[in-house]
Amino acid sequence: MRKLKIAVIDLVTKGPTRALYARVMNPNLTSIMPQVVSVWCEESGHDVKFICYTGFENLLDEVPTDTDLVFVTAFTQAAQLSYAISNMCRQRGAVTVLGGPHARCYPEDARKYFDYVTGFTDQAALNEILADLEQHRPYGVHIAAAQHPASLPSVEQRWKFIDAVLAKAPTIKIVPMIGSLGCPYTCSFCIDSVVDYQPLSFDQMREDLRFLLTKFKRPRVGWHDPNFGVRFNDYLDAIEEAVPVNSIDHVAESSLSLLSEPHLQRLKKNGFKAILPGIESWYDLGNKSKTGARKGEEKVQQVSDHINMILEYVPYVQANFVLGLDCDEGDEPFELTKTFIDKTPAVFPGYSLLSAFGEAAPLNLELQRDGRVLPFPFHFLNNHHAMNVRPKNYEWRDFYDHVIDLTEYSFSWRTIGRRFRSQGPSIPGWMNVLRAVSSEGFGRIKYYRMIRGLLDTDASMKRFFEGETTEVPEFFVNRIKNDLGDFWDYLPEGAMEHDPTAYLKKHESTRKLVELQA
Ligand code: SF4
Repeated sequence: MRKLKIAVIDLVTKGPTRALYARVMNPNLTSIMPQVVSVWCEESGHDVKFICYTGFENLLDEVPTDTDLVFVTAFTQAAQLSYAISNMCRQRGAVTVLGGPHARCYPEDARKYFDYVTGFTDQAALNEILADLEQHRPYGVHIAAAQHPASLPSVEQRWKFIDAVLAKAPTIKIVPMIGSLGCPYTCSFCIDSVVDYQPLSFDQMREDLRFLLTKFKRPRVGWHDPNFGVRFNDYLDAIEEAVPVNSIDHVAESSLSLLSEPHLQRLKKNGFKAILPGIESWYDLGNKSKTGARKGEEKVQQVSDHINMILEYVPYVQANFVLGLDCDEGDEPFELTKTFIDKTPAVFPGYSLLSAFGEAAPLNLELQRDGRVLPFPFHFLNNHHAMNVRPKNYEWRDFYDHVIDLTEYSFSWRTIGRRFRSQGPSIPGWMNVLRAVSSEGFGRIKYYRMIRGLLDTDASMKRFFEGETTEVPEFFVNRIKNDLGDFWDYLPEGAMEHDPTAYLKKHESTRKLVELQA
């Protein structure tokens, strides 16, 4: 095979930004798979240019003009940007591949704009693309391994790519690592709920941690496991065997059910500085928060006590909630979250609007069947710029009033002050203030108010939200145009719209085929 010129583009964000929090954190949100793909491409003897777009680069200048193959990885919010990049590179003669969450959630749509769209990607799947390397138009080929790869290149092998991204982080530098894939829990809205839990090699984890101590005096590791610590003792044994106690700072996402006091003692001993548990709802998903059948106020009290206990051991805790779940009705869920904030002053609340990402989760089939999934452009599907599921128990304006009220309560100066006083003038304390006054707090309040206002004044917005038209309102079109900048001219025709029932149609036709064959 001839030596190829390959560009691997990791889209951390969807457009230019100047937000302070993005400056500090976006480089730390880099994904692992683009680095893995870069290593595998180099191992196959090709030249790789690795680009991580954090919103501060001139992407047009960064994408090389003379590549044979361009591999883009994107979350759904960066889909339109990825489609424009692909179009530009295809016009220059390159073959293009899309990987990452958007490719897994919306493969049928992405095939219109890429030559290859990947599902689970292992080295064999990548080699299949490298060996074929053809233009596949008008519809790209879907390539997918049966499951996630059993092993990934080490941190040392990925180092030059990690180093290049972390050079963009002005202060906090977090190395992305992963110890397991999938999750044993079955939260119906989650992409990992349908992926079997699979730990990766503990030997490699030990080797990676030792390697990091040769690069930093005190490294910071961000664990990308969907649910860190499912095999808690095996993980902590591996960390303790690999490096001196408390020599590395760790950040991880973990469910409350795994965060018992003995576990927290061990996490503290080993330098865990931030934990992000998902609470999601006061009425549902009790198994992952270890609250069983407790609901409402009873659950608030128990979860608050639990999180306050976690904060005695781990200085930074973000509690995640999903707003707009079908189990929510009336004022109560929002009022309960406010009570939780009062009872748990040091926690940072992370709110996501319920979103159905294409094929991500089984629940989406049901939502599509019920006609509740709306065709908001992908650009807004990041859990807060749009909620593409019509709420079951709220009228839109009522829903946004509740969301605004809760967000304002969570990021009022009074609450920010209480949060800061609970943490003191420390990195977690200042990080909470920064997040609150930046895009996640004040930025969201401003945005939600704007949407709420438009629901009163802009008939096209109201009709779109109600599902009476699929024509994308000017408001959204203008924002995409603004965010894409120079890439707007490369956005292919039709790329603004998508079929919100594509998953259901695919599912139904597969079912019919199976019935015919039976
Ligand atoms: S516990 Fe977290 S990772 Fe696991 S299925 Fe639920 S939301 Fe997904």
